[in-house]
Amino acid sequence: MLTLDLRSDTLTKPSVGMREAMYAAPLGDDVFGEDPTVNALEEKIASLFGKEAALFCPSGTMTNQIAIRLHTGPQKEVICHQYSHIYLYEGGGIMANSMASVKLLTGDLGKITASQVAESINPDDVHAPETTLVSLENTMNKGGGSIYTLDEVRPIQALCQEKGLKLHLDGARLFNALVETGDAPAEWGQLFDTISICLSKGLGCPIGSVLLGSKADIKRARKVRKVFGGGMRQAGFLAAAGIYALDHQVARLKEDHRRARSLGEFLMKAPYVVEILPVATNIVIARLEGISPEAYLQELSSKGIKGVKFGKDLVRFVTHLDFGDDHLEEFGKRISRS
Ligand SMILES: *Cc1c(COP(=O)(O)O)cnc(C)c1O
Repeated sequence: MLTLDLRSDTLTKPSVGMREAMYAAPLGDDVFGEDPTVNALEEKIASLFGKEAALFCPSGTMTNQIAIRLHTGPQKEVICHQYSHIYLYEGGGIMANSMASVKLLTGDLGKITASQVAESINPDDVHAPETTLVSLENTMNKGGGSIYTLDEVRPIQALCQEKGLKLHLDGARLFNALVETGDAPAEWGQLFDTISICLSKGLGCPIGSVLLGSKADIKRARKVRKVFGGGMRQAGFLAAAGIYALDHQVARLKEDHRRARSLGEFLMKAPYVVEILPVATNIVIARLEGISPEAYLQELSSKGIKGVKFGKDLVRFVTHLDFGDDHLEEFGKRISRS
């Protein structure tokens, strides 16, 4: 039976065109700064977002953790939503890598507001860690792939500027947001000190994330990447996949979103599902009643459908490059059978 694997958009395999681009990539040693393909990727994506520089890294965890290291340190504090990837899914790296503290905020669909941030900045007081960083996530994974609008971010950016705080964006799925809103990448680039973007999610690369920032920040980031063990040698093979993805696999993210909306509609009519979080991009989160996520996923697994548990009564499905209309149709047939 064909498996409909919707556990994550990281599961995709490189397309034929991507593999050809990888095979043909000119190479050099990137730790020496001599891999022409890595340099080309870094320049291409930095200029797309109107940033001075970029750094190619093995994972989004590394790009986020490098940014946190740049903007915090011992006795400093980062403000973020309690559902943030940097807090929940990066192995306690805020503490382990930067020895920093974190202040967690609540908010609808994983988003925070400028007034919440304003109330959360620590006073200049001997008891308190010094607030130095605010981190946002777009799209917001745990918020069901929700999108921040520019109008929501601008007041947060203005506040950070006024208070001398750095602003980081975990943009693992930023392109999913951009294709939906039509915002220009440079509008986002100009609001943040640093932005992390994953090439290995919806964009369909096998490996890789980039950190964007000022020349000075990326120079420091390069040193942190080295000490984190992320200095790679002939990484042009991987960077070539990134360049290919930026040229050929961005606009198609809209198809993933359309299929995610249909998937949500199928699920809404299926047994045990009582609620679907608003489907803004490629993530569908379903609330269950009368069954545990484990038992539900077991049942789906016998129908050849895979998702993941995403909370005590939640499961998550993510659409991606390797999930087409035929798969969607098959999903609809299998899910309606109980
Ligand atoms: C996937 C993801 C990351 C980075 O994860 P890696 O697996 O380390 O590349 C960061 N933030 C969010 C929101 C993500 O979904």
